Formats: sequence, C-alpha cells, structure tokens
Amino acid sequence: MTTHHIAILTGDGIGPEIMAEALKVLTLVEQRSGVHFELTESPFGAAAYFDYGHPFPEQTQAVCDAADAILKGPVGLAHAEAMKIPVDMQPERGAVLPLRARYNTYANFRPVSLPKALAPLSPLKAEVIGEGIDILMIRELLGGLYFGKKVIGIDDNIRFAEETLRYDEIQIRQVVKTGFEQAMKRKKLLHNIHKSNILKSSVLWNEVLDEVAADYPEVEVVNMLVDAAATHLCLNPGQFDVMVMENMFGDILSDQGGGLIGSLGLMPSACIGDGKAYYEPSHGSAPDIAGQNIANPYSMIGSVAMMLEYSFGMVDEANQIWAAMQGVFADGYTTPDLARSNSDEKVIGTDAFGQRVVDKLAAI
Ligand code: NAD
Repeated sequence: MTTHHIAILTGDGIGPEIMAEALKVLTLVEQRSGVHFELTESPFGAAAYFDYGHPFPEQTQAVCDAADAILKGPVGLAHAEAMKIPVDMQPERGAVLPLRARYNTYANFRPVSLPKALAPLSPLKAEVIGEGIDILMIRELLGGLYFGKKVIGIDDNIRFAEETLRYDEIQIRQVVKTGFEQAMKRKKLLHNIHKSNILKSSVLWNEVLDEVAADYPEVEVVNMLVDAAATHLCLNPGQFDVMVMENMFGDILSDQGGGLIGSLGLMPSACIGDGKAYYEPSHGSAPDIAGQNIANPYSMIGSVAMMLEYSFGMVDEANQIWAAMQGVFADGYTTPDLARSNSDEKVIGTDAFGQRVVDKLAAI
C-alpha cells in the first residue's frame, strides 16, 4: 500500500476548526483510495511560540523535513495579541516566511474560481460574472519586499524603516516559467502583472518574461499594470485565466480575488517549488470569528484537494472533492460568510458544512 507522510500544522484562530473538517475529508479519501496518509500534527504559529518559545520549533522543522507534503492552517493573532510577541517571532516573520524559504516554494497557486451556477455567492452582478470565474493567480513567494533587507533606525532624530525590493533573474525565471507551464495546460493565455512604469524590478521581470516567452510561442501574453489589473478584475474577471506576478502584488490581488467570489473562505492555495510543497488557505487566522463554528472550511478542504493533485497525483480524488464542495452549495447550503440577506439559502456552521462535503463525497 502506498503511504504518504503529511505534516499537519493546525495553526491559530480558526485553524483548528477548519483543519478538523479538512481531515475528515482526507480520511474518507484514504478509505476509498487504498492510499494510506500518515499524519503528524506539529505546533506552528502563535500557539507554538507561547508553548515552545518559537513559532516554528525545531521538532516541527524535523517533522516537515521528513514529510512528503505539508498541510498548514492559517496562523496569526489579532493585532493587540500579536503585539505581545517580539516582532521577529510573530507568526508570519518567524514561521511562515521561514517555512517558504526552507522548502523553496517559489510559486503560490491561488485559484479564484466560481462556477456560473454559484454566481449568487459573488457580490458581482451575474452579467459581470458571465460564464463564471476561473482564474489561477500565481504569486511569486520568496522574493520582493517580503524577503528583502530590512532596516529600522533613526536618522537626524527621525525614525525610519527601509525595506528592499530585490529580484534576481533566477527568481523571476522560475516563477514565470511556472506561469507559462500552467497557461499551456489551460487556455494558453497569460496575464503578466507588473508595475514597470515605476519599479525597476518590474522592468527586469518583464525582460526575463519576454525571454521565457520565446519557449512558449503558443501562449498569448497580456502585459497589465497591477493597478489597472485591480480594476479589470472587478469589471471583467472573465478576461483572465492564468496571472503571474511578484510577491506583494499577488498577496493583495489574490485577496481581492476572494472578494470577487464572495469570501476569503473560498480561497485555498498551493505553495510549490521543485521539491516538497505545502498547502494552506490564502487567508489568515480570522481571529474575529475564531471558536464560533462559523468559519468556512472550503479553503482548507480545497487545500487538501490541491495537495492530492500536486503532491500525490490523485487528480480524480481532487476533482471529486471540488465537486462535493460545490454540490453542497448547489443544494442551497452556505456558511455565514457567504450568506446573503433575502435569499432562501440554508446557513450552516463549519462542522455541518464539512460533514455535508463528506456525505456528498461518499455519494460520488
Ligand atoms: P484574515 O484573512 O484572517 O481575515 C480577513 C477577513 O476574512 C475577516 O473578516 C475574517 O473573518 C474573514 N475570513 C477569513 N477566512 C475566513 C473563512 N475561512 N471563513 C469565513 N471568513 C473568513 O485577515 P486578518 O484579519 O487581516 O488577519 C488575521 C491574522 O492572520 C493576522 O495575525 C495575520 O497576520 C494573519 N495572516 C496569516 C496568514 C497565513 O497564515 N498565511 C495569511 C494572512 C494573514
């Protein structure tokens, strides 16, 4: 029997609630597929800092090193709580960025997807959504401002902070190539999101992209400034298929993507490199709704589907999970984040949504 070892990093806030539902789904996949998933839960995030003195403790690093894939819940605390942790030990700086760097996961796949049948979940008008939204945003994950040199100091009695936006051609080439590869598997259309009218890093980005494009003559490239892209996403999301962009642009535009389809709770993601990948919702730990059984587990369950597809080649099982989740919405059920007033939808909690996904999946 095939065994896949998976590190489970439950995280903070709504992490434990949505991870519980994702693991129910994974357990059913295991029962049906004959593949064994060996799960090892490990502390990660703010809770790990308080319990072990570090948000990415050594024992968790060892578990992740030994795993075939990593399934991670969101981490972080509400602002006031986060301030109780030293800046460099706060979960993103102390755990998430080091996790990304450790496994060189340079490409973050963030699907922004809403089939036409589920158009009412979106705040956009049905005529804007048209045939549905199906965008794959690819965010560079290891460069730019988030990883550049940071200096904080005082100059002439004035406090300053300085952060460096650096990209080299190797970093750009590897993620851009990933964008072209994904475009080849889809509609052969790639939107290159940049800011070359201001940023020299974008000028280099575009130069490298043009060089890589020569290897993919079938792919149509559309170059679009990031600010314009933000508007086009709202006005005509159907024009996009695969989008590739640097780290901070991708962070921001993909959250906008969550807004387009109705909730950040619909945003799973895959963090891919040349080796081990890890999977996490695009959103944070949502401390405002933690512990209330109202978080949408779609993003975490979708991250399981992406793990099955990208790390284990279980494409059919992944597609069945997407179908099961969409089937629950099609039956008229929804989680509170997606509930719209004056409609006859049936609003259910985190655990009930997860159970309905399991029931649907079992019936497929
Ligand atoms: P957030 O993404 O946690 O929440 C933004 C809004 O979306 C909130 O109103 C929240 O309730 C809602 N939301 C998010 N996920 C949801 C879900 N599954 N179901 C229903 N509603 C959902 O962003 P934030 O509030 O700015 O940040 C909270 C914490 O998360 C901070 O500490 C931040 O640093 C951290 N964070 C972590 C990651 C990560 O782990 N990769 C990513 C982003 C933010």
